[in-house]
Amino acid sequence: MNAIAVERGETEPSLLDVPEPTPADGEVLLRTLRVGIDGTDFEVLDGNHGGFPAGDEYQILGHEAVCAVADPNGTDLTEGELVVPTVRRPAEGSHEFFERGEPDMAPPGTYRERGIEGAHGFMAEFVTTPAEFLVPIPDAFAETGVLIEPMSNTVKALELAFASRSLFEWDPERALVLGNGPLGLLTLAMLQPTVERSYCLGRRDRPDPTIDIIEEFGATYVDSRTTPVSEIADVHEPMDLVYEATGHAKHAYDTIDVLAPNGVGVLLGIPSEWTFDIDGGRLHRELVLGNKALLGSVNSHIRHFESAKESLETLPDWFLDRIITDVYSPTELEDAFDDSTDCIKQVIDFT
Ligand code: NAP
Ligand code: BGC
Ligand code: ZN
Repeated sequence: MNAIAVERGETEPSLLDVPEPTPADGEVLLRTLRVGIDGTDFEVLDGNHGGFPAGDEYQILGHEAVCAVADPNGTDLTEGELVVPTVRRPAEGSHEFFERGEPDMAPPGTYRERGIEGAHGFMAEFVTTPAEFLVPIPDAFAETGVLIEPMSNTVKALELAFASRSLFEWDPERALVLGNGPLGLLTLAMLQPTVERSYCLGRRDRPDPTIDIIEEFGATYVDSRTTPVSEIADVHEPMDLVYEATGHAKHAYDTIDVLAPNGVGVLLGIPSEWTFDIDGGRLHRELVLGNKALLGSVNSHIRHFESAKESLETLPDWFLDRIITDVYSPTELEDAFDDSTDCIKQVIDFT
């Protein structure tokens, strides 16, 4: 069967012919319909994040999938039903966080991630997985369901952020999203019902499709080349909530400056190593005297996927039409992984 994979020593994906998987007991055989591409896939290709399945010379990519059940294999699912798989699976002998239903909180080394860390992903005509890692979705989400996995990451991150402010009265009015990639734009969309004013940071000239989306939401586009994050509080206003989705490591620390007292910043980007100077004393003081919080958040589990599914239903059609910019067949690899600025969310369609 066709699979899109990165081979050892390579930084570009290839179309490989690999054996079709056979489901073990408790596993379901899935026919892959669509798989989305995100910034993490490029980090995996570049070798900056994740790793190959032990002993394999290639890694099948992809972690944002919509699949159809091809063989329920004795599980409660039905043939033809649409599902979205979660990403984490237990590493050999490490089941504790999975048993308590919190694999997204498992420490590094105790999990594998499909398409990212030590496990093959979903960019193949057929995949298998235990039924417990599948979230059924309505047929109406066959095309947009690839957004559920990234949205579930935001559901979890916002849950952590709100929980950190839950011991006092906190009603965020102003939110800043750092990054106008697919994760940043999905989060901007998801925040609209919650906040009064929103901002989104990028580094692009107009005309640009992401700036159009930001402004269509009534949000303010902030160009980091003219307004660095550390100056946003002065140029615009301090923020109650900051969501970092650039992977630009300085933004983690600049977030402390842009937060209003009692605000929270949640970091999702996965940067490569980078040494730079910061005024640690001043930032530490800001955090303490401002009662500010800075959190990291990664991954998500079933209930975040369920909540993302509900949230997807509420996103406006014009946004859904414009965020999935490109749909390619597996043979159009070069275009699918072209990271040019016209693309927002690229999707591979295996049907
Ligand atoms: P992406 O497509 O790489 O988007 C990042 C965006 O940030 C791009 O649009 C980029 O602009 C912008 N950006 C980068 N540096 C900037 C700067 N200095 N100033 C202004 N804008 C800047 O990635 P994504 O899929 O949206 O994901 C965002 C990050 O989150 C990635 O690092 C990804 O690995 C990570 N992630 C983490 C989780 C988690 O669970 N923690 C989940 C999903 C993704 P240009 O395109 O113009 O360069
Ligand atoms: C994926 C998450 C994963 C994270 C770290 C993100 O792109 O969507 O499921 O946990 O990368 O590898
Ligand atoms: Zn992702």
